[in-house]
Amino acid sequence: MTAESLARSVARDRRPEPAGPDAARRFVNQWVEPEALGPERVSAFVVILKTRGCYWADLKGCSMCGYSRDTLGRSATPDELAEQLRRAASRYRDEPYVKLYTSGSFLDDREVDSESRRAIVRAFSGRARRLLFETLPEFATPETLGPLREAFAGEIEVALGLESTDPVVLARFVHKSAAPSEYLAAGDRVRALGLRAKAYLLLKPPYLAEGEAIDDVVRSTAEAAPHFDALSVNPVHIQNGTVVEWLYRRGRYRPPWLWSVVESLRAGAKLRGAARLVSFPTAGGVARGPHNCGSCDAEVLRAIEEASLSQRFDALDGLDCPCRTPWRAERAFGPMGVEA
Ligand code: SF4
Ligand SMILES: [Zn+2]
Repeated sequence: MTAESLARSVARDRRPEPAGPDAARRFVNQWVEPEALGPERVSAFVVILKTRGCYWADLKGCSMCGYSRDTLGRSATPDELAEQLRRAASRYRDEPYVKLYTSGSFLDDREVDSESRRAIVRAFSGRARRLLFETLPEFATPETLGPLREAFAGEIEVALGLESTDPVVLARFVHKSAAPSEYLAAGDRVRALGLRAKAYLLLKPPYLAEGEAIDDVVRSTAEAAPHFDALSVNPVHIQNGTVVEWLYRRGRYRPPWLWSVVESLRAGAKLRGAARLVSFPTAGGVARGPHNCGSCDAEVLRAIEEASLSQRFDALDGLDCPCRTPWRAERAFGPMGVEA
C-alpha cells in the first residue's frame, strides 16, 4: 500500500457515524493543567468541544492525528454548542488561561458557527486573561478574528499546527493540506491584528530517523520564531486510527525519545529569538508516547515541564541516565531496532 492510499483509507475508517442529539450536547473532555502567563505560573482550564471536527481529516488527514474519533460525524447545531458551553462553564473556576479545542478549527464555520464562536468567547470574557483556540491557517482572517477580539476583554492566542517548516516533511510525511509558508503568513496576520500567535512543531513525523527529527524541529524553531509569540514542540504519540499507528503496529515507528525533546529544547532555545519555547509531551513515559528507558522518564519529564514553564533551559542541564548511550547511537546512526 502506498503512503497516499494508506492515508486515505485510514481517514475513511476513523470517521464516526453521525451522532444523535444526546452525544452532541456533551463536550468531549475537560481538565485543568499547569501553564504560565509570562513569568507567572497559572492554571489553565482546557475543554474539548464536540464538533464535526477537522474537514481535512475527512479528505486525507494528518499522519499522526486521530482526533476525528472525538467528533460528531456532522455539524453541531448552535443549540447543541450552547449546551456544551453551559456544561463546560459550570466547571469553570476563573482559571486565568482558557484553552478551547474542537478536534479541528475553532474558526471553521462548519465546526462552530460565527454566532456560537462569539458566545463561547464572551462567556470567558472578563474572567480569563488569555484564551487560546486552534485553527488551520486559511480560517485565520480579519473577518473571523475581528469579532472575537471585540468579544473578549483579554488576550486571544491563536494556535496553528505548523509542525515543520520543511515543505517536503509537511506534505509527504505529516500530510498537511497547506504549505509552511501559509502557516507563517497566518502567524503574521494574527499578530497584525494584535493577537498572539502560537505554532505547534511536531517532533518525529513518520519516516524521519531520530536525528533527522531533531534537526527538523530545531530548524523549524529558527524559521518559525520570527512569525510567532510561542512555539510548542509536540513529540508524536500514537493515536488510534492513524498512519503512525499503522506503522507502529508493524514495528516501523518508535515514538521519539525524551532525550530528543531535551535536545530540541536546548538547541531551539538558542534560536527562538523572542518567542517562548515550550513542550508538554502527551503520553510522556509510556510505550505509545515519547519515552526513554523507563527509569529516568519521570525526572526528565519534570525537567522538560520546568524549563517550559520558567523558560530557564538550564533546568535541562545535568540530566543523565545509561539510556543516553543507545539514544546517542540511534540519533547518530538511525534505529538500532524498534522497541514496542
Ligand atoms: S492535525 Fe490538525 S489539520 Fe491535521 S487532521 Fe488533525 S486536526 Fe486536521
Ligand atoms: Zn533512562
